[in-house]
Amino acid sequence: ADVEMLPIVQEVMESFTMNYTKHTLRVVPPAASTFVRGDADKLKQVLVNLIGNAVKYSPEGGEVTVEFRCLPKTLVVIIRDQGLGIPRDALSKLFSKFYRIDNSDRRKIGGTGLGLAICKEIVKAHDGEITVQSELGIGSMFSIHLPRQDVTVPVLAAYSEVAVALTTDQPRLF
Ligand code: ATP
Ligand code: MG
Repeated sequence: ADVEMLPIVQEVMESFTMNYTKHTLRVVPPAASTFVRGDADKLKQVLVNLIGNAVKYSPEGGEVTVEFRCLPKTLVVIIRDQGLGIPRDALSKLFSKFYRIDNSDRRKIGGTGLGLAICKEIVKAHDGEITVQSELGIGSMFSIHLPRQDVTVPVLAAYSEVAVALTTDQPRLF
């Protein structure tokens, strides 16, 4: 079914605001529609896990921002935090089942190490992928890449200027 990501992102962000008063949670409005094809409940679970991690691993608070990149064929949902960050040598293991980083700075933060493994599986089942960039002590950025609805493809092929507009941050045409 068609799933609009923006309202799900907003709902999940709102659900975290009450418990995390030290954080500023911000959704940057997307430049185009955020429809993808898939399972709304499963995609919501991915957002709950990633936004949940963003606040959980930012014990001092800070900003958690979700923004969108509306590329012609791909919707990218980007979740940024200003938290503990992830050591370079942990990045490749992060999406493995039960993997947790065992640093003194996060030993008190509970979890099973399954969240990201589940996220990866769900996104893969949607023909997408998750990528991560992080700097220890600075913050993390997780990006969910999902194929957009097929219908945008022939339209964009016919109007290549529109395709260019949607790949950049220029004003949208529709
Ligand atoms: P669960 O999600 O199952 O409750 P978890 O949060 O430990 O437990 P994952 O979500 O899979 O498991 O994350 C794996 C590890 O990656 C975490 O233990 C944490 O150390 C690190 N991590 C995940 N997201 C972030 C983040 N946004 N900032 C810093 N570290 C993170
Ligand atoms: Mg987690």
